Order: sequence, then structure tokens, then C-alpha cells
Amino acid sequence: MAITLPAGFEDMLPAEARFYHDFVETAQRIFATYGYQPIITPQVEVTELFVRGIGEATDVVSKEMFTAISGENLGTLLGGGRIKSKSRLTLRPEGTAGVVRAVVEHDLVPQGAAPAKLMYAGPMFRAERPQKGRLRQFNQIGIECLGAEAPSVDAEGIIMLMRFFAELGIPSESMVLLVNSMGCEKCRPAYRDAVRAYMDDHADGLCDQCNERAQINPLRAFDCKNPSCEKIMDAAPKITDYLCDECREHYTAVLAYVSAAGIAYVEDPKLVRGLDYYTRTVFEVQALDSNSAQNAIGGGGRYDKLAQEVGGRDTPGFGFALGFERCRIALEAAGRSIADAPSCTVFVATVDDSLKTQAFDLVQRLRDAGIPADTNHQDRSLKSQLKLANRLQARYVAVLGPDELAEGMVTVRDMVEHTERAVPFAEAQRVLI
Ligand code: AMP
Repeated sequence: MAITLPAGFEDMLPAEARFYHDFVETAQRIFATYGYQPIITPQVEVTELFVRGIGEATDVVSKEMFTAISGENLGTLLGGGRIKSKSRLTLRPEGTAGVVRAVVEHDLVPQGAAPAKLMYAGPMFRAERPQKGRLRQFNQIGIECLGAEAPSVDAEGIIMLMRFFAELGIPSESMVLLVNSMGCEKCRPAYRDAVRAYMDDHADGLCDQCNERAQINPLRAFDCKNPSCEKIMDAAPKITDYLCDECREHYTAVLAYVSAAGIAYVEDPKLVRGLDYYTRTVFEVQALDSNSAQNAIGGGGRYDKLAQEVGGRDTPGFGFALGFERCRIALEAAGRSIADAPSCTVFVATVDDSLKTQAFDLVQRLRDAGIPADTNHQDRSLKSQLKLANRLQARYVAVLGPDELAEGMVTVRDMVEHTERAVPFAEAQRVLI
């Protein structure tokens, strides 16, 4: 039986792969105008980074990580032995922890330095239950800005993300930007206690998991999709009533910058996002008519304690990530399809096989001149070569025939204009187009 992909993983075939490259290039171009530079970190990090950075009690860390152990270490474990904690490796479930680790490890933000503005693109891995818009390997583009806590950083990040979505072609009326503040280590504990007390009072109506969450990580209950829990959590205490003066001021300033840029948002006091590292600003962009339960196309926030959590000095940070596959779904919902592109401009055909060497020579000269070109590599009649040229969407077909070649000429057909002309074989790469 043929071997097929496991559920939750996808191939990107050429049209899709080309679209992905354009997608990343567009992000790079826009983000560069805001000062963001690319960074590439490994797809594997020590497990401990995610446990400490994202938080042990989050769904991502407790249930969804793909942890990889080498064959040798697996043997040791199965034999009852112990392996070093550094040998427990995990396929990254998100990009922030790895970038922050790199910033700390390479001291990219020495004391007093300008903020490090970094962007990444690549696959992330989460062992979630696959469904439309929810994969086990998916592609994110993200940015991180480390070393500045000013609200203008958060605002320019949000504005930049919305600008990217607009440039992609996701209509502004088909998405909503939700914003909230999660407070800081000063004001959040009192809020967390208030939510816990509220949940304890409503324990009967909450699902078992939320009752468990109430004890370990009560804010997670805001993400529960159980209708009864949703209804109860709708009336839970609101973080905005608990923010300290500094957090309130920061939040108000972020909103003011975003409004001034003409970007519409909705304040959502229930927005907590799934990872533990957020402080102050959190935001999420949801697609409204993507016809999919997985409608978050991007989101992020501020994480002022993460660098310290992974062993660095106190370095404030802000970042976001957006999902390529979810953006594709949103674009499809907006009527955008991805077309196959021509894979060559000139197809070099031969009247018979005796001219293959000359065809090979011409196709090389065309490529050397920067013209996408291809020729026949199979056993095909001229008719069948012309069909192939059509399938490849070649604009021109150069037909090599013994009589024309004897006179140093080659016939060139324009497949769009339906015209034909003869050009000198030796000069074809210069005069053909
Ligand atoms: P998160 O780190 O969960 O906020 O994810 C950031 C973005 O990545 C989301 O807004 C989605 O667009 C995308 N994303 C997250 N998880 C998945 C997944 N399992 N499959 C596809 N896209 C995802």
C-alpha cells in the first residue's frame, strides 16, 4: 500500500508553495519598513525552554508538544535509565520562546541598547486534533521586539499586522481586531484570585476541566468552548477593572495610537490567549466569514517577563504570530484563488530526436540569458511536445527542424499571438523575446 501523510500534516504543491514564498516576501518587505530584520532559529529547542517560557499548565505545553528523543536516548529511557534534561528536545510549538532564547544567548540587547526587532517565518508543530484550519504542522510568520516597553511598540506592531493583512487582500470588513490588557505581576494576582473565587461560586455549572483550571490557571477558562462555561465566564470579573495605574495608562496609550492610525478594534476583556507569558497588551485578529471554527488568523502581545524566565536579564518584549494556512482560508473566503503559474517562457521542441543535442544547447543558452526555458526529456512526437508546451503555459515554442537548422535558423511560434517567425539559431537567446 502507498505510504501517505499522517493526519494534520500537509504538502504544499507548487502553486501553494509559490504563494507561500510570496506571502513571506510580502511580510518581509512590509516589516522591514518598520525596522524588522530576519532571524532563523532551529525548529527544535530543549523542552525546558517551552515548559518555562510558555508555562507548564498551558494546553500547548501540557498536551500538544511533539517531544523528540534520539534513538540512543530512547533506548536509555526504555531501559529505565535517565537522560540529561538537555537531551529532551521539542519541535517548537511557537516561535517566540526560541527567538527570546537566541536574543538572550547572543546578548542582542545589551543594557541600554536599541531594541532588537526580529522577524521569523517557518513551521510550528502542535499535536492538536486536526480539523479545518488546525494542523499539526503549520506555518507562522512572527515578529518580536525586545528591549522597549513603550506602548508605541505594541501599537506599531498591531498596525503593521493589519497593514500586512490588508496588503494580502483580506477585506477589512471580514476581520475583527480584538484587544485587551492582561495586567502585570502587580495587578494580575488579585484579578486571578477574583476569577478563581467567582469560578468556585459557579463550580456546578463549569465543566470538570474548568473546575481543575480554577485551581491551577483560572484565566484559561476564558478559552473554554463549552456553552455553559462560556455563559458563566461571560459574567466573570473583568481584568480592566483590576489594572494598576501603570498598566491602565499603557493600555490607554496603545489604544490611542491604534485609533489614530485609523484602525478599528474591539476591546475584549475575555481575551487571554493560550500562553502564560503575556503581560499587558494582548490582541487577536479573527476572520469573520472564513467558515471555519479556527478563525484566529494572527495574534500576540507583550511579554515583559519572558526573557528573565529563560535566564536572561530583565528585557521587555512584544510580538505576534500569524498563521499562513488560516490566512489562506480567509483569502479563499474572500474569493481569492491561487492560479498555476507558467513554469517556462520558451519551450524548445524538435521535429525529430536527432536534434536533441542542439535543443539542449539552445535551452541552456536561454537559461544563461535568464529566460525560463525547458525542452523535451521524454519520448514525444512534435505534436505531443506542443501539447506539453501548452500545459507548461510557455509563451513561445522554438521548433528545431533539420532544414531550418541547415540554414542556421529556428522557427519560433508565439503561442498567444499565434504568429510564427524564423530567428538565427546562434543568436536565438538574444533575439527570440
Ligand atoms: P498562537 O501562537 O496560538 O496565538 O497562534 C498564532 C497563529 O498561528 C494563529 O492565529 C493561527 O493563525 C496560527 N495557528 C495556531 N495554531 C495553529 C494550528 N494548529 N494550525 C494552523 N494554524 C495555527
